[in-house]
Amino acid sequence: MIADKMRPFLERNSAIRQMFEEGLRLAQEYGAENVFDFSIGNPNVPAPDSVKEAMIDILNNENPVKVHGYMSNAGFPSTRKAIADNLNRRFGTSYTEKNIIMTVGAASAMNILLKTMLNPGDEVICFAPYFFEYGSYVGNYDGVLTVISANPEEGFIPKLSELEEKINKKTKAVIINNPNNPTGVVYSEEVLEKLAKVLERKGKEIGHPIYIISDEPYRELVYGDAVVPFIPKLYKNTLVGYSYSKSLSLPGERIGYVVIPDESDNADEFIAAATIANRISGSVNAPSLMQLAIERCVDEKCNVEYYERNGKRLYEALSDMGFSCLEPQGAFYLWMKSPVDDEREFVNAAKKYNILMVPGSSFAGPGHVRLSYCVSYEQIERSIPKFAELAKEYF
Ligand code: PLP
Repeated sequence: MIADKMRPFLERNSAIRQMFEEGLRLAQEYGAENVFDFSIGNPNVPAPDSVKEAMIDILNNENPVKVHGYMSNAGFPSTRKAIADNLNRRFGTSYTEKNIIMTVGAASAMNILLKTMLNPGDEVICFAPYFFEYGSYVGNYDGVLTVISANPEEGFIPKLSELEEKINKKTKAVIINNPNNPTGVVYSEEVLEKLAKVLERKGKEIGHPIYIISDEPYRELVYGDAVVPFIPKLYKNTLVGYSYSKSLSLPGERIGYVVIPDESDNADEFIAAATIANRISGSVNAPSLMQLAIERCVDEKCNVEYYERNGKRLYEALSDMGFSCLEPQGAFYLWMKSPVDDEREFVNAAKKYNILMVPGSSFAGPGHVRLSYCVSYEQIERSIPKFAELAKEYF
């Protein structure tokens, strides 16, 4: 008998599987090149050669007992130091290896932070639309996810008035995802400074600090003159969850880290507890070979231009057809208003043209759809005449 807690996941999973199977069915029937799958966030840009070269060299030349062995649960000190140095160079911080814990991607980073801080019934706030797994992660530790409604009037930035209303004595943390999945919006320093002020004031009012958990798998994917502020510089109780899944196209390798700054409250105790959370959450430590490869490739850049070109082409083409889209500032998602109220109807209509996209309801953003453009540029070009046919049904 499975646990009651798992039942809702089974139901939701079948919806995701249906979409995945629909993609396979269409590809079989019409040929993969005639299916325009904008549903998944799996980077199509290959990982940099330097990652492969580092892995090969490590396997050939380093001590296999070290390469394949256990290490400190927080990860190799040398890898953590390389990451701390990289952050210090970029953001003027003064981290050491002590402030970094290597994790199994951003998902694990979030889980470790939540496991470390949540008592049952504690509340964690996030802003709609949001990456739906947040509910699962918070639920893993019997916390409660409180969702602040979407803010389309101000370009989907956090709605601070509602944030203020919803904070109460149970509030432990606020999740910020910048650049944002699913909207592609980048929150500016001005927005985040205002948010930090609210949290400082409310934290004093409720008698304990409210953490910001900064979920940053898309940090490096930013376009034009948009800048992604480093939130620990704006708010001391910020804990960062980072991942190389998107920036270095390594989602299957499961590698990322958390940053717990010395400035955050009770930092030493939090670091010690988070290190144990890493161990007892089941992952024990982040993959050793990947840690060593990241140590060598810490300054590697991702191919932002590829995604930027994709996003621009799709945004301009769809806007010209009459669709209302948010111009992507970061990540690799285009957030588009559905031309009919029920976006699931629109998603189904698009399937007639072999176009697959995700209904906004999957992100608590009904009335919209998400198009994931981490696909080949050729797929985007081929899809445009099909979108034009779809547009003719509405405009
Ligand atoms: N957070 C957000 C907003 C994401 O979009 C994703 C993955 O798509 C994750 C976390 C999980 O990333 P990872 O593969 O590094 O666990």
